[in-house]
Amino acid sequence: SCGICVEKCPFDAIEIINLPNELDEEPVHRYGDNAFSLYGLPTPEPGKVTGILGPNGIGKSTAVHALAGEMTPNLGEFEGEADWESVLDRYRGTELQNYLQKLIDGEVEVARKPQYVDQIPNQFDGEVRQLLERTDERGELDYLVDELSIRPVMDQPIDSVSGGELQRVALAATLARDVDFYFLDEITPYLDISQRMTAARLIREMADDGDRSMLVVEHDLAILDLLADTLHVTYGEPGAYGVVTDPKSVRNGINEYLSGYLDNENMRIRPEEITFEEHAPRAATKGQPLVEYPDMHKSYGEGEFSLDVEGGTIYESEVLGVVGPNGIGKSTLAKMFTGALEPDEGELDTQLDIAYKPQYIEIDQPMRVDAFLSSITDQFGSSYWNTEIAQPLQLEGIMEQNLDDLSGGERQRVAIAACLSEDADLYLLDEPSAHLDVEQRVQATSAIRRYTENHDATAMVIDHDIYMIDLLSDRLMVFDGEPAEHGTARPPQEMRAGMNDFLADLDITFRRDERTGRPRINKPGSQKDREQKRNGEYYYSD
Ligand code: ADP
Ligand code: ADP
Ligand code: MG
Repeated sequence: SCGICVEKCPFDAIEIINLPNELDEEPVHRYGDNAFSLYGLPTPEPGKVTGILGPNGIGKSTAVHALAGEMTPNLGEFEGEADWESVLDRYRGTELQNYLQKLIDGEVEVARKPQYVDQIPNQFDGEVRQLLERTDERGELDYLVDELSIRPVMDQPIDSVSGGELQRVALAATLARDVDFYFLDEITPYLDISQRMTAARLIREMADDGDRSMLVVEHDLAILDLLADTLHVTYGEPGAYGVVTDPKSVRNGINEYLSGYLDNENMRIRPEEITFEEHAPRAATKGQPLVEYPDMHKSYGEGEFSLDVEGGTIYESEVLGVVGPNGIGKSTLAKMFTGALEPDEGELDTQLDIAYKPQYIEIDQPMRVDAFLSSITDQFGSSYWNTEIAQPLQLEGIMEQNLDDLSGGERQRVAIAACLSEDADLYLLDEPSAHLDVEQRVQATSAIRRYTENHDATAMVIDHDIYMIDLLSDRLMVFDGEPAEHGTARPPQEMRAGMNDFLADLDITFRRDERTGRPRINKPGSQKDREQKRNGEYYYSD
């Protein structure tokens, strides 16, 4: 096992060199004999946004506990007392030295945004306003509340707000604090692209104007690229050991990550590279129409949100990406397809067999993962099912756990597996990227792609991660309108036209990395940005 696959390598045709092996040197910290070991530490720097790119369970929180001074690293020795002077000796002459000195002098305070914002309501009773007011140490809370559009939910109880609202409340609560070092464990789950860009801009401002150290773990590569100044890649074997690389430039770090090979470390972290096409995919030969749906209208009531759907066709064996801001009616349309909601006008052929993975996954049964999945498909445990579903979704290690004990990312992988395990005409996945780390997104993307190709299956995938949408989709369905008031679902279109409509609405253009062709967000107002807008090339070039 190389730490990427669960058990047997699905790529064993490929010769893998230099798979991460536990290093020879001593770790920074080891929790005990045969327990998790951490090698290397990220380097927070005042006035900089430092990114961390890598899987969950690799030691990021462990590193932050250390950098916050909440835990003294033992350098792999658990005889005697761990002490900071030895750690400082180890890092003398490195970029970390200044930071560690400050830490030893008791000059470091940390604010932390937790990864799983869904758990905040379990820890905090009361209204949004009460939670936020306790954090207003810099007198900037009003500004943050406005920028993050939290005002409308200020007087709502915490347990009544949506995932996207909770994420923005948690961001505001962290950024409102007055400390030296901010640790943000994922900023994008449940946020749409313009909310992600706002969050990124606010974090940037803290570094630029406040000269603060911002450490950000992020799995949306387009946002990470836009936001960070330097990048540490982490690799290893989640749960066993993790290595934090020296800082790389963000561009090189992401390029190396996507290529599957870390240059300085001489380390292959994935057998295959991930590639992007600069030109829009040619219209694939279409299969038979799977469903032709008419113009439809749905309103939740007088003065409530309403959705207009422009009729269109979904073809057999295509993957249809679905994009648009939050609160624009994407889940509403998904529920109309599943039959859970009836349109007020227009009629939908509900003969279709639909497998649906909802956005917010509630599987709180005291049932084991293996029992749950085998109740869905009699293919469970077959070699085909293991190769196509269990391995890429890393289910092996969690089969014996109960559904209600799973973490957000584990729950997401089980829910994707459950959806793909059903026998259906149309697989409808609402935000499958939420809570997955980058490697899991890559694996989940190829599992969904491979599954649809091998089974001539049709999938609709709603997501905000542009890289995932690009890698998955044959065509694109774009929503626009006024969030929470009115939305319009446009008919599915070719990728180029769809991306242009979607990004023009957001006023964002992408350029291509010269070496890899990977899409990168242009700085708003830059020469490239203006030129591409003039040419109508928001994402693909001709
Ligand atoms: P990440 O933040 O990258 O998800 P963590 O730093 O939380 O990873 O954890 C890395 C590994 O260390 C995990 O396998 C976790 O179970 C283990 N671990 C974390 N805290 C402790 C501890 N106090 N004792 C033993 N093992 C721990
Ligand atoms: P998206 O999936 O694009 O984020 P949704 O379809 O979930 O959007 O929601 C669109 C709008 O409809 C939101 O403003 C939401 O609050 C509102 N909404 C969703 N369900 C209901 C409901 N049952 N009653 C009233 N309003 C609703
Ligand atoms: Mg939704």
